[in-house]
Amino acid sequence: MEKIDILSLDLDELAEILTSIGEKKFRAKQIFQWLHVKRVLDFDKMTDISVQLRRSLNEIFCINRLFVQKRLESAIDNTVKYLYRLSDGNFVETVLMEYSYGYSICVSTQVGCKMGCNFCASTIAGYVRSLTASEILMQIYEAERDSGKSVSGVVLMGIGEPLDNFDNVMKFLHLLSHKGGNDMSLRHVSLSTCGIVPRIYELADMKLQLTLSVSLHCADNEGRSEIMPVNKKYDLPSLIEACRYYIDKTGRRVTFEYAVIDDVNSSSADADKLAKLLRGMNCHVNLIPVNKVRERNYHTARSGVAEFAKQLGRRGINATVRRTLGSDIEAACGQLRRDAAQQNEKNGGADT
Ligand code: SAH
Repeated sequence: MEKIDILSLDLDELAEILTSIGEKKFRAKQIFQWLHVKRVLDFDKMTDISVQLRRSLNEIFCINRLFVQKRLESAIDNTVKYLYRLSDGNFVETVLMEYSYGYSICVSTQVGCKMGCNFCASTIAGYVRSLTASEILMQIYEAERDSGKSVSGVVLMGIGEPLDNFDNVMKFLHLLSHKGGNDMSLRHVSLSTCGIVPRIYELADMKLQLTLSVSLHCADNEGRSEIMPVNKKYDLPSLIEACRYYIDKTGRRVTFEYAVIDDVNSSSADADKLAKLLRGMNCHVNLIPVNKVRERNYHTARSGVAEFAKQLGRRGINATVRRTLGSDIEAACGQLRRDAAQQNEKNGGADT
């Protein structure tokens, strides 16, 4: 029988399994605490659990750890980028960033991505599968263990489309914020999506306190379809309508991500369209200089981002320019995984 991934279970699910083998319910609470608070990832080290129960735990459950395949530390700003190897040999990336208020971590939600945004390295390397809830959670636990730092904020902006892995991502959020476990407020979590409209409605109805980030990148419907194929399925007007619904339902401000690309989306006409699109909305625009991806010719002059921010300001739209972190370690997601996957292929698929 295949073992159950215990780190993807919430307290109730764990209690149900334990009571079904004749154990008392409170054991679930103890074990959940060992895993999610004390971070002891070995049943044999759970000292207040009887030897007999520990044996049963080892028989029924597995503890799916991630292995640090590569660890790159920025010499400029302390950003650390992890390339993790999953138990099936696939790779994902996680970035730990230092801010004035603490540490924030950017996690992946899938191995690769099928959304096809043409400026993004994650999608160029292809889609393999979605991550389980524990594989998302463990990116944080393993980074905290490795770095000795405590993470105070999480962004779902790594490899993958979180709303294309909806159930596992919701489970992850539930585990991350569980009172009997890690207990992080979802106010410290941002979820970034390229715009899977029906899922935005679903998320809004759940009324979680997280911040929704929408990767907009273009305020013209046709132009957006050219760089983001998802826009052909869920067009710009329907995306903006979903965002309005989200704001209404949750009372939370939406963030729009906009990677400024020279000659693509940063003209004064683009600023006009963006201002018109977002006027009156409870939102915030985050401008990002496009990260260079080897396969693409896109680039942004630093002055281009500042200039675009100014143009938006003149049109009454507040925009901030995102700090670029880890520029010396290719912190743009997807690049390390792609290299590792290509290396693996060269070696005939063997783990390296
Ligand atoms: N799939 C989700 C989350 C992962 S991408 C989404 O699309 O939002 C995280 C963010 O990085 C998105 O805003 C994405 O559009 C942006 N991004 C991807 N490649 C980029 C690049 N080369 N330069 C700047 N931002 C990029």
